[in-house]
Amino acid sequence: MDKPPVILWFRQDLRLTDNPALMAAVATGQPIIPVFILDDINAGPWKWGAASRVWLHHSLHSLNAAIGKHLVTRAGDAHTVLVDIIKQSGATAIYWNRCYEPWQIARDKIIKDALTKAGIDCQSFNANLLHEPWTVTKDDGTPYRVFTPFYRKGCAAKGPPLAPVAAPKSINWSQMELKSETLSLLPAQPRWDIGMMAHWTPGEAGARTQFNTFMDAGLHGYKDDRNRPDRPNVSRLSPHLHWGEISPRAIWHAVQAQMASDPVLERDGDHFLSELGWREFSHHLLFHNPDLPTTPLQKSFEKFPWVDDAVSLGRWQRGETGFPIVDAGMRELWATGYMHNRVRMIVGSFLVKNLLTHWRHGENWFWDTLLDADLANNAASWQWIAGCGADAAPYFRIFNPVLQGEKFDPDGVYVRKYVPEIARLPNKYLHQPWAAPASVRADAGINPGTYPDPVLDHGAARDRALAAFARLKD
Ligand code: FAD
Repeated sequence: MDKPPVILWFRQDLRLTDNPALMAAVATGQPIIPVFILDDINAGPWKWGAASRVWLHHSLHSLNAAIGKHLVTRAGDAHTVLVDIIKQSGATAIYWNRCYEPWQIARDKIIKDALTKAGIDCQSFNANLLHEPWTVTKDDGTPYRVFTPFYRKGCAAKGPPLAPVAAPKSINWSQMELKSETLSLLPAQPRWDIGMMAHWTPGEAGARTQFNTFMDAGLHGYKDDRNRPDRPNVSRLSPHLHWGEISPRAIWHAVQAQMASDPVLERDGDHFLSELGWREFSHHLLFHNPDLPTTPLQKSFEKFPWVDDAVSLGRWQRGETGFPIVDAGMRELWATGYMHNRVRMIVGSFLVKNLLTHWRHGENWFWDTLLDADLANNAASWQWIAGCGADAAPYFRIFNPVLQGEKFDPDGVYVRKYVPEIARLPNKYLHQPWAAPASVRADAGINPGTYPDPVLDHGAARDRALAAFARLKD
């Protein structure tokens, strides 16, 4: 008689390499049913945004192709779906890799308890982080709230993360015919996703290529040039990492090996790994503070006098603030589903500190439009920008968008790409078109209405923000 199957529940681990749940399933010697469940019911307000869904669609296609089209896809409450598949298949075990969104933790605990009681072997593993959040603590056992000691002391004390494991040589996928649903993850008309996805190759093979390209051409110079949106020195691995198409442990070990073989890379490699450290820190913060996406970590910010102005928010979202570096960032996001980290900081500071708009509006917009939207990284970053998070940017650090543009896009390459209507302005005025004399504007083809006037005066907005922040201390 055929052995009963086991279920491999794919989640944010859409890969075959260094996938501990897959290894555990293979080790049983039983046929494996690979399942993905789109669980919008338990996700509630944090169901995947529109851009994430597009990525997921392509990533699932890639995974399905890699596993001989055996993937079973379903939508609904994950517990109900799993019970149904167990009933239909007679599966005796279920394996998955852990996720750290509070709603997934709560749901998974219920599933594990219920299925274990029903005699199903349920096991979960770490595939997504270098270290589990509950294992990195201060000497007194409490979680870190400041990044540098978290990373340099807490994570360092754990030693190297586990070495990555190669994909199994052969996998016995179950041949059982099980119901599979179309998940309808792509947008209806207009198909804005088509142009966006021309910039990306979702899936494990795409992630590997992206990583190799970065190691060959981006890592060298990363520490300095990672701040330049006009340079190719960031990895653009974030959506791949979010969906688990590449293992953070594999990245960590590959970068260490490269640094060992080429000591010139030490400074850049170390800095790149510290960014993975920020990812780690954000996930640990979310684990220990489940309300991170909605509630400021610094409670004094609950009484902050936010100004909710829908018109200005709309101009920010559409990239029509009249500040070229801000508009370039917001348009990069709209066109590619990604925004360079330096520019995320500039547009974030602009929204929160210049427009005094609640950081949650920025968080929500990013959640829907970023291909790499990630509850932990997004929430922690927005709180950092707003000054209300753990180890946050101080409130008085209010970026001047003109100076930021001149410093990080000095030749205007980035702005000219995304704000073409002002491309013919000379560099001197590119980051502040309103300051250009009328004749220069006319020569550059800028007429009234070509490009918006600035939505505010930065100096006045800065004073207003400082006054508002000062009131928090009262
Ligand atoms: P690289 O510089 O190549 O870094 C490598 C990896 O390290 C990234 O892929 C990412 O996983 C991690 N990383 C880098 N910087 C950070 C950081 N500051 N915090 C946490 N992890 C980091 N990142 C997301 O993945 N999802 C988000 O939803 C998200 N929202 C953000 C919102 C704001 C307001 C800001 C300021 C930052 C946000 N970030 C987010 C963090 C960061 O901007 C992106 O991770 C980074 O730009 C991704 O590009 P990359 O892969 O080329 O980064």
